[in-house]
Amino acid sequence: MEKGTISIHTENIFPIIKKFLYSDHEIFLRELISNAMDATKKMESLSAMGEFAGEVGATKVTVTLDKEAKTITISDNGVGMTEEEVKKYINQIAFSGATEFIEKYKDKKEEVQQLIGKFGLGFYSAFMVASNVQLVTKSWQEGSEAVMWTCDGSTEYEITSTVREGRGTDIILHIAEDSEDFLEKYKIEGILQKYCKFLPYEIEFEGEVINNTKPIWTKSPNDLKDEDYLAFYKELYPMSEDPLFWIHLNVDYPFNLTGVLYFPKVKNDITVQKNKIQLYQKQVFITDEVKEIVPEFLTLLHGVIDSPDIPLNVSRSFLQADSNVKKINSYITRKVADKLQELFKNDRPTYEAKWASLDIFVKFGMITDEKFQERANQFLLLEDLDGKLFTFDEYKELISINQKDKDENVVILYTTDAEKQHTFIQSAKKRSYSVLKLDNILDSHFINTIERKWEKTVMKRIDAEIIDKLIDKGENLATALTEDEKAKITEIFKSASGRAEISVEAMPTDELPVTITLPEFMRRMRDMAKASGGGMDYFANMPEQYNVVINGNHPHIDKLLKIENAEKQQQFAKQLYDLALLSQNMLNGASLTAFINRSLEMVGVG
Ligand code: ADP
Ligand code: MG
Repeated sequence: MEKGTISIHTENIFPIIKKFLYSDHEIFLRELISNAMDATKKMESLSAMGEFAGEVGATKVTVTLDKEAKTITISDNGVGMTEEEVKKYINQIAFSGATEFIEKYKDKKEEVQQLIGKFGLGFYSAFMVASNVQLVTKSWQEGSEAVMWTCDGSTEYEITSTVREGRGTDIILHIAEDSEDFLEKYKIEGILQKYCKFLPYEIEFEGEVINNTKPIWTKSPNDLKDEDYLAFYKELYPMSEDPLFWIHLNVDYPFNLTGVLYFPKVKNDITVQKNKIQLYQKQVFITDEVKEIVPEFLTLLHGVIDSPDIPLNVSRSFLQADSNVKKINSYITRKVADKLQELFKNDRPTYEAKWASLDIFVKFGMITDEKFQERANQFLLLEDLDGKLFTFDEYKELISINQKDKDENVVILYTTDAEKQHTFIQSAKKRSYSVLKLDNILDSHFINTIERKWEKTVMKRIDAEIIDKLIDKGENLATALTEDEKAKITEIFKSASGRAEISVEAMPTDELPVTITLPEFMRRMRDMAKASGGGMDYFANMPEQYNVVINGNHPHIDKLLKIENAEKQQQFAKQLYDLALLSQNMLNGASLTAFINRSLEMVGVG
């Protein structure tokens, strides 16, 4: 047996780091500016801790583009480096001076925890775009000489002494031929806007400061007014309407997270509003792909989350399993629920006024997030046909007297389309039943999810089954028809309609002689299929499965039975059946033509 150590040759690993460390080449600028920010922050910290007695002076970081010389230079007035430090921090890949600094001053945690760097890899991203990198630096420590480090991307470097006026560092990138598009002004501007817009020290490019060094999420809510939040929203999304309200997030235990989340005016098309949350780490933009970090329904919110505790560069499934990410998830969900609850409790009229926009959001949350669902039962609102809003408990109480079935379940009646279901709504109104409006794109899913959770409650779409059966209290209207007559009527309509599902029921005389109903489950399948777009085509294209219900108390049915001529009887039955279809907007094509012709004949014109 033999034991040994696997060795790594830097010559081999270096090109791999350069090439694969980051998929996006543009982040070199983010990395180098982050280092400049850290160097500046260290300077301020040393001064605050009394390690440095002199003037900190200007803290500005400058980015300079020289198209002719094909260079991009990043300059700071930070701590700089001595020759020893260059050898230690720059020549050793994966050795982070930021981590070392934090370790050294760890008893003064507040002062140094804002440093961005930690992996000791960022600097080398410069070689993704540069064929040669020069680093000119002078340390803050007294008596330090400036040094210049040069490297062409191989594992060889050169250090020479040089002159630099003050302390600080210049990174001069000689842009490689295949990266010359980075020498365009607009390109650099775009990268700065994307990654550096909220970095803590001023960044100057082409004579202008490009960043807001104190974005509101770094401030205390007590120091902020509504205008500040609205102005920041405009800064993030210049084209958007004002948000409804916002939540300022601020937690430092057991994880660190700050941010501001806005509730936008939600439109019925939710896909366009999704994924607008930006993720930052210590004010450095990381991504606007937060799908794995916040629960799905919260991706409808807008705003900023800043947390150093979210692991990056790991696979998505790993991210979802990460314990910090899980905690962050439930923290944000709780905060959002708290906010809604508070608004509802403290100012119900305003909450109700905003409900149209909150509706989809709250329901989406209830469908997809169990924890949120429990909380949301308190502030979910249900809207009846008169536009009145109720909490679930209020509504249940309101209808509990009139709308119970024989098993003592409360029956909630709802409509998904008040226009189309008009006839059924009229029948319900006649009986003083209340009808809810559940007609947005999520409602069919919502009903399915929620119904099981609400005890002793059944939800029925208004046209699901005839209304007297629906709220069956065992006191149905009786019909004078004998069983024989019922069988006869069934036969007549079977042949008139060509459908198998015929039933004769006792209904009020002032309702239609024939009604079409759909089984509730079928309705839902079709609604869901429509709402979810692809994938459920089977249900969406399914033939209408409906029942034909004959009103046994209607005088026309009595009349029909008495017609002796079989052909005339069929004609009359067809007419009644077609009227039922017509009232449901289900009569078209050849059937419609036949109906019109028959009607003309019947009124004696044809
Ligand atoms: P990290 O930032 O994660 O520590 P980097 O590879 O980006 O790793 O940088 C390595 C180290 O080089 C830094 O930790 C810092 O000590 C030093 N360094 C890089 N850029 C500068 C700079 N502009 N001024 C002073 N020190 C710097
Ligand atoms: Mg760095």
